[in-house]
Amino acid sequence: MTANSAPDYRQYICLVCGYIYDEANGDPDGGLPPGTRYEDIPDDWVCPDCGVSKSDFVPLEDATQTPPPIAASQRSRILPADPSQVVILGGGMAGWAAAESIRRADPDRAIVLITADAGHHYPKPRLSSAAGEGLAPDEIIMRKGPEQAAKHGVEMLAHTRALSIDRDRRRIITARGGVPYDRLVIAMGAEQRRLPPPGDGDSPIHTVNSLDDYRAVRSKVDGRTASILIIGGGLIGSEFANDLTVAGHRVTLVERAEHLLPALLPAAAAGSLEARFTDKGIHVHTGCSVQSFTTQSNGDLTATLNTGETWQGELVISALGLQPNTHLASQAGLETRHGLVVDDQLRTSDGCIFALGDCVEHRGVIRPYVRALRRQASVIGTTLAGNTAVYDGTPDTIIIKTTLCPVAVYPPSSHGKWVAAQEGRWNHYSGDRLNGFALMGGAVADAKRVEKELV
Ligand SMILES: Cc1cc2nc3c(=O)[nH]c(=O)nc-3n(C[C@H](O)[C@H](O)[C@H](O)COP(=O)(O)OP(=O)(O)OC[C@H]3O[C@@H](n4cnc5c(N)ncnc54)[C@H](O)[C@@H]3O)c2cc1C
Repeated sequence: MTANSAPDYRQYICLVCGYIYDEANGDPDGGLPPGTRYEDIPDDWVCPDCGVSKSDFVPLEDATQTPPPIAASQRSRILPADPSQVVILGGGMAGWAAAESIRRADPDRAIVLITADAGHHYPKPRLSSAAGEGLAPDEIIMRKGPEQAAKHGVEMLAHTRALSIDRDRRRIITARGGVPYDRLVIAMGAEQRRLPPPGDGDSPIHTVNSLDDYRAVRSKVDGRTASILIIGGGLIGSEFANDLTVAGHRVTLVERAEHLLPALLPAAAAGSLEARFTDKGIHVHTGCSVQSFTTQSNGDLTATLNTGETWQGELVISALGLQPNTHLASQAGLETRHGLVVDDQLRTSDGCIFALGDCVEHRGVIRPYVRALRRQASVIGTTLAGNTAVYDGTPDTIIIKTTLCPVAVYPPSSHGKWVAAQEGRWNHYSGDRLNGFALMGGAVADAKRVEKELV
């Protein structure tokens, strides 16, 4: 009979195979009666799943911050263990797009999706526009995780963090145990670069890259008109500046480069966005950065810019750009540079492991956009079904949802120069070849037609 877990019993995870040793249950088959403390396990005891010694175990709470694990005695009944299954790591738009595409190509394949979050299916670009429309976090969820999993015939392990990838044994080590794979698809996204809080216990500098982040921001500003500082005038920073202004807040936007959207727009086009923002009350500071923060006694923050100007308010959002999540992949020996390197079939340097979405680098480029990940997912589905497909990395037109001044950009793939073409339109030429454009305001409506002019 299995002993009930006492509150002071601890659990230890095998870092090699994910087996969880629960002191409450012991390992009777291995000679450890229920209640055997980790310290009392003899040195010659071996992990019942993979045979390593107790020195390869660490306390479970050190390995993960996910919710309490399932007891070892229940683990094998719960974790999917079909050795032919495809395992997808990550339940963001890329993970779900991969699941959908693999299912479409093969109705019978066992698919397991492991995700650290709840696995809810929601369009992430709505995180900023939802702020403008005053939508609650739950209102942008299209399907809750379990419904989404059922729709695509996927077994989902939500709130389950992958701790490592054991490529030799084709196994994902999670805080709930090991999960075998025949093919693995990594869709672990990217992290917004974070700024440390100004001091111990001070309110954090927020980032917005998940539903939980959005929840945290909403809880700071709901029911009042807040003064908000946004650091970073790229796509995400500009969209939030737009949407939080539309929602009635006072927004200050700081960008280190000489103009907004520096990675996407020529200076003159960005100038018209900045003029429109300023006109609508956004304080835009380009060519400068935040030098220091201090916290006031009422919890407000004060930021000092390198120009000597200061800002004071309730909320700081950092939108400094994305850092692809490549930690587990590089630990497992997969080739990584800025992102996890993939070929034209989205294969990593291990032929059994594919990757897509914000975490990947393809032909030296990271494309953290929805259209890119959907095309990547389609190639993975086709390839896993044994057919031929190629992802060539061609850019897509990016629509920046700054409703105060809409922007559409087709980012050029080679060097050249920007030329003002007509009202609201800039063309990019490499030699005499048109290979990019930027459209502003009313001209955005022409984006589809202009795209056809590109050869
Ligand atoms: C505010 C905002 C506005 C945007 N606007 C646009 C737009 O207008 N147009 C556009 O094309 N794109 C836009 N984007 C970008 C687009 O949303 C992303 O490219 C896309 O959502 C990335 O999806 P992903 O699944 O690759 O990554 P993510 O959404 O980051 O998903 C990563 C998943 O991996 C899981 N995970 C991470 N580590 C682990 C682990 N160790 N174990 C288990 N699971 C793990 C996470 O829980 C998560 O489920 C916007 C993004 C933001 C934040």
